[in-house]
Amino acid sequence: MLELPEVEVLRKDLEKEVVGKRVKEVTAATASIVRPFHRNRPELVKALQGRKIEGARRRGKVIFLDLDEQMTWIIDPGQNGSVHKETASEPLGPDTHLATTFTTGGALHLSEAGDEPTIRTGVVPTDEAFDAVGLSHDALDLFDDNPTWMEFGRFLAEADKPLKLLLIDESLLAGIGPVYSDEILWEAGLRHDHPSSSLSTQETRRLYRATQEVIVAAMKAAGSSLDDAEADQMIDDEGVAADHLRVYGRDGKPCSRCRRPIVRTRIKKGVYTYHCEQCMI
Ligand SMILES: [Zn+2]
Repeated sequence: MLELPEVEVLRKDLEKEVVGKRVKEVTAATASIVRPFHRNRPELVKALQGRKIEGARRRGKVIFLDLDEQMTWIIDPGQNGSVHKETASEPLGPDTHLATTFTTGGALHLSEAGDEPTIRTGVVPTDEAFDAVGLSHDALDLFDDNPTWMEFGRFLAEADKPLKLLLIDESLLAGIGPVYSDEILWEAGLRHDHPSSSLSTQETRRLYRATQEVIVAAMKAAGSSLDDAEADQMIDDEGVAADHLRVYGRDGKPCSRCRRPIVRTRIKKGVYTYHCEQCMI
């Protein structure tokens, strides 16, 4: 599953590669990926063809490519979508759902393996883009908003939730999911059920520093997302750059701080946490 760090790496790559380019041809191979933004594929093709890409933004786990005429091209990678740079003549692979070529050459392919892709894309007016993907205007983006530790402390106190549930709550915090919520809590040495409103100053600072460190390390591990070969090396079956992970998916393996086995605990329906019972308090 892609979370904020991987999508931020993708945003940076897109900023470098496609901002300033004009879309030439658009081929949409899969009908479901244009919903809910469009009724059908031709509607997306018409909205995207000929548009110039003027900027690349990210919020949470969604990419917003701003186009001319106050329109925005949304790319929501979903569970495991990816974007690759190709030559303009490269045919669409079996997992490619959308391809765009550019007037100056080259192409972008949007892909995701599996029968039911979760990647979504469409073109909407810029001022409706957040609402179109259901993003909360109030949710904090730890990288984009770059809060100070004191602002983060106030946010934690106001939210007043168990830490794990707070970190993965998209209405409060954008872009952090099952993977990096566990990694952040391990790095901070804080338990998943520790109430966010009862952290000491020291614990707040530790959690704040952990968010920064985990996001930066994950961005480094994600490498270059547009380069196919490199991405495949770095990413495991679940689409996660796994080498740098300390707890997520590591149940039974020794904690790299205290050597006790990492355990996987069910918090509620569909929500699990990987943690160390020894060194997270
Ligand atoms: Zn431990």
